[in-house]
Amino acid sequence: MKDCVELRQEIIDTCLWLKSQGLLFSTWGNISVRLDDGNILITPSRMEYEVMRPEDLVVLSPDGEQVSGTRLATSERDIHRMVLNKRQDVGAIIHMHSTYAMAVAARNEGVPVISEEMCQLLGGAIPLSKEFVPSDMHKRLGEVVSDSVTDVNAILIRNHGPMCFGQDLKEARVCCQVVEKSCQMYLMLLAAGEFETVSDENVARGRDYYKNSYGKT
Ligand SMILES: [Zn+2]
Repeated sequence: MKDCVELRQEIIDTCLWLKSQGLLFSTWGNISVRLDDGNILITPSRMEYEVMRPEDLVVLSPDGEQVSGTRLATSERDIHRMVLNKRQDVGAIIHMHSTYAMAVAARNEGVPVISEEMCQLLGGAIPLSKEFVPSDMHKRLGEVVSDSVTDVNAILIRNHGPMCFGQDLKEARVCCQVVEKSCQMYLMLLAAGEFETVSDENVARGRDYYKNSYGKT
């Protein structure tokens, strides 16, 4: 995506939307977008979204060097950066602190594929990062989360919260909704005690349908 005021405003608007949906509060969330030149446009650290302006966003290189901007990038910048470096198909990442996903992230496993929505939008089971890392260990946290990322469009950071991926911000927003709903459903199903998951074959079929045929047939 091209770095412009409109894109920067779309990022801020997405932060405000997350807040309005109850998917985060205060400044507990962050967003990054891959730019056409390979750099990363990312939200600043500890700044209320209501007062954030397009010029407050920061541009980082894939190595983490600050390319432009006067503010400090979000403290979770290494997670964004390392995931974008690993997943070249991803153009936007949204990290939120949503209740149901955070509850599941406190368990010892991710979320199996329990719905057609998960097949199509996420492309499989939501993984959980392999170990807990204190949030002040920025680089280590980035390494553990990116190591745990699969080809699925989301991950739960252990005892922390979800990151949702998309080709662009619009798709990442839908992934946020699917992740939060899936985690809510999963907790309900665990309480009920019995449920069916979707087979690997049908997960692949659903994902292929979304990517190649949805809206065309
Ligand atoms: Zn966080």
